[in-house]
Amino acid sequence: KLVSKKWKAKPTSIDLGDGVFIKDGEMAVITGPCSIESEEQIRKVVDHCVENGIRMMRGGVFKPRTSPYAFRGMGIEGLKLWHSIASDAGIKIVTEVMQTSQIEEMYPYVDIYQVGARNSQNFNLLDELGKVDKAVMIKRGISGTIEELLQSAEYVFSGGNEKLILCERGIRTYEKASRNTLDLNAIPILKAKSHLPVIVDPSHGIGIRAYVPQMALAGVMAGADGVIYESHEIPEKAYSDGQQTLDFAQSARLAAWIREIFDKR
Ligand code: PEP
Ligand code: MN
Repeated sequence: KLVSKKWKAKPTSIDLGDGVFIKDGEMAVITGPCSIESEEQIRKVVDHCVENGIRMMRGGVFKPRTSPYAFRGMGIEGLKLWHSIASDAGIKIVTEVMQTSQIEEMYPYVDIYQVGARNSQNFNLLDELGKVDKAVMIKRGISGTIEELLQSAEYVFSGGNEKLILCERGIRTYEKASRNTLDLNAIPILKAKSHLPVIVDPSHGIGIRAYVPQMALAGVMAGADGVIYESHEIPEKAYSDGQQTLDFAQSARLAAWIREIFDKR
């Protein structure tokens, strides 16, 4: 496989511009709400990122919701608004693309296209992202194996887009005490098998706010090149995933811990 270490031994470095990288040997911190909700909310999260030296912000404008009646996101207008505020502050945007028709309209406003767990094996979407000159982060499927994640990455890479990032976000198991089972094993295994950077998502991985920090740090110790986690000014009021979202004080503490642990790794 082209994404394998056998094919390319040198770790792939993703250069997002303005000195922002996702690469082996650096620690990428990405935070933000599950959903982009309003201009006011965007400004608050952007300020939080700037205050804490966080250069990449996550947030969904097209949301894959289990219930069709749940908030589905602000759409492309939300993304445009977000981009205008974030780019002024030097913050890079990570956001989910749900279908091929969105790729082009999103293009001027995203820095990393996120492929969500539910679309991890949407091979048409992966094919189209293979033709794009912009970074893509692929999340592991809800019940996806490590091999399946690598094969999904292979679709994009073989299409010509080598700006790829892998993300472990937990898998569905028989365990019901947590939202998903964060597969920490996947981190060293992916790092050994592939030259691509690996990011850990403890928010979706465990789904319980109080335990997100320790799972984030466990992911760092397991060898992750970055952490993506959810934060919001008032998590209880978030439109989605509030139960696993950190408030800004918790997020500031976690970002500092991540860097401290990474420096000692
Ligand atoms: C998200 O990042 O908010 C999300 C929907 O993640 P996942 O695709 O991993 O469920
Ligand atoms: Mn979420």
